[in-house]
Amino acid sequence: MPQRIVIVGGGFSGTVLAASLLRRLPSDAPAEVVLIERSPVMGRGVAYAVRDWPYLLNVPAGRLSVDSKEPLQFLRFAQRTLPDADAEDFLPRELYGDYLQEVLSRAERDAPAQVRFTRIVGEVWRISPCAADAAFELEVAGRDSVLADRVVLAVGNPPPATMPWARAVRDHPGYRADPWALPRRLGPEQAVVILGSGLTMADVVTSLGDDAERAPRMVSISRHGLLPLPQSKFGAPALQSDGLELARAGTIRELLAASRALVGKGDELGGDWREVVTLIRHLAPQLWRRLPEVERRRFVRHLRSYWDVHRHRLPPQMASRLDALRRSGHLEVNAGRIVAMQADADRLRVTWRRRGSAVLRTLVADVVVNAIGPDYSVRRSENSLLKSLRDAKLISEDALELGLRTTLNGVCVAADGTANHPLYYLGPMLRADHWEATAAAELRDHAERMAQHMAAGSEP
Ligand SMILES: Cc1cc2nc3c(=O)[nH]c(=O)nc-3n(C[C@H](O)[C@H](O)[C@H](O)COP(=O)(O)OP(=O)(O)OC[C@H]3O[C@@H](n4cnc5c(N)ncnc54)[C@H](O)[C@@H]3O)c2cc1C
Repeated sequence: MPQRIVIVGGGFSGTVLAASLLRRLPSDAPAEVVLIERSPVMGRGVAYAVRDWPYLLNVPAGRLSVDSKEPLQFLRFAQRTLPDADAEDFLPRELYGDYLQEVLSRAERDAPAQVRFTRIVGEVWRISPCAADAAFELEVAGRDSVLADRVVLAVGNPPPATMPWARAVRDHPGYRADPWALPRRLGPEQAVVILGSGLTMADVVTSLGDDAERAPRMVSISRHGLLPLPQSKFGAPALQSDGLELARAGTIRELLAASRALVGKGDELGGDWREVVTLIRHLAPQLWRRLPEVERRRFVRHLRSYWDVHRHRLPPQMASRLDALRRSGHLEVNAGRIVAMQADADRLRVTWRRRGSAVLRTLVADVVVNAIGPDYSVRRSENSLLKSLRDAKLISEDALELGLRTTLNGVCVAADGTANHPLYYLGPMLRADHWEATAAAELRDHAERMAQHMAAGSEP
C-alpha cells in the first residue's frame, strides 16, 4: 500500500507543503499526497483570495518565494505580468495567490510517477484514529471518508471571537464579521466603526477610503489605539550583529533592554530599528521556547501590542494613505473599549469608553467591522474538526491559549503530553511554541522542514 499523506486545508500552508512533498518524496516508493480544501479554490486561503479590491502584500516581492533554493521565484513569476516589478515592490495579494496555484500545478506536473497527487473539494468535519489499515479516518461532508497514514492540519486562522457585546447584533446587516466583505456603496454621509487597529483595519480603511470624495467617516477603536508602522527599504544591515546579546536575554525586561541598546547602536551607525526587529524575529522561536511561562505571559500582557505594530508593518503607500485619511478627518483612531452595541433600525449604536476615562461615549454607525483578529483558543473553538480532535485528546493548546502545541517537526502534542500520533499541524497556531509563525516566510520554512521529515520516512 502506498503511504498516504492527507493535508486538510488548501490555503498557503497546505499548498506549500503539498508542493514541497511532491518535490521531495522519494521516486522509488509509492506514495499519495491528498489535499482537501472546503472551498472550490485551492492555493489562496483567506490572505490571497480574489477580492473586489486590490489588497497589497506587506512584504516586498523579493522576499516571498516559497522555495528557499530559489529566493526570487515569486518576483520572476510577477515579472511575467508586471515586467517593471522589482524586488522592493509591494504587489497585489491576489497575484501571490496566482503564484501559489502555479507552484502547486508545477509540482504536480513534475512529481515522480510513483507519487500521486489527489485534490478533494470538501470540508473535513471529524478525524478519528483507526484500528487497522491506516492511522486516521477523515470524515468529509457529503463524500466518502478518507483514510490516511499521516494527517496534516493546515486549516488556517480561526475566526475572530464574537465578543459578548456583539452577540445581540451579529446577524444585523450592518455588522460585518468578515472584514474583506464590505459594502462598496458607502458615501461621505455614512459612518463606519472598525474594531481593531492592526493590518486588517488598514485593509478596511484603505479600501473604503480609496476615493477621498466618497469616503465614509471611519472610526477605529482598539485597546491601545496603536497603528502598524510603515515598512522601509530593505537595505544592507548597518549593525552586522548576530543578535547574541538578544539571545542571552533570560527575561522580557532583559530582552527589552538589549533591543533598545541595539537600536541605539544602529542609530549611531546610520541604521534602521527595523533591522533589530528582524533580528528578534529570527531568534523568536528559540527565545520563546526558553522563556518560562510567567515571562511569556508578561510579554503577551504588556508588550505584545507594541511588538505587533513594529513587526507587522504596512507597505509605505498604505501608510501614507492612512496618514492622509487621518489628516483629512476621514479616519479617527481611538484607544478604548467597547461597552455595548445595539441595533438602531438599520444602524448600530456603539457605546465605548476611551482608555483611561470613565465617561461613556456613543457612536451611531452604518457599518461596524470586526477586525480584532483571530481567536486562537482551542478550548473556546466552535469548529467541529478542532472539537473532534480536542474531545479525542489528540491535540492540546498552550497555557496562554495562543495556539496548538507541536514538536519541532510539527507533530501535535496530545492532551497527555505525548507526540506519537502521525497528526501534524502547520499554520499560524504554531505560535504556541514558536511565537513568530504567521508570515509567509516562517510558514514556508516550517513547511520545508515538515516535508523533509516526511520524505525521510521519519516517525513522529
Ligand atoms: C489578510 C491576510 C493578509 C496577509 N498578508 C500577508 C503578507 O502580505 N505577507 C506575509 O508574509 N504574510 C501575510 N499573511 C500571513 C500568512 O500568509 C497567512 O497567515 C497564511 O496565509 C496562513 O496560511 P494557512 O494555510 O495556515 O491559512 P489559509 O491560507 O487561510 O488556509 C486555510 C485553508 O483551510 C481551509 N479549511 C479550513 N478548515 C477546513 C476543513 N475543515 N476542511 C477543509 N478545508 C478547510 C480553508 O478554506 C482555507 O482555504 C496574511 C494573512 C492574512 C489573513
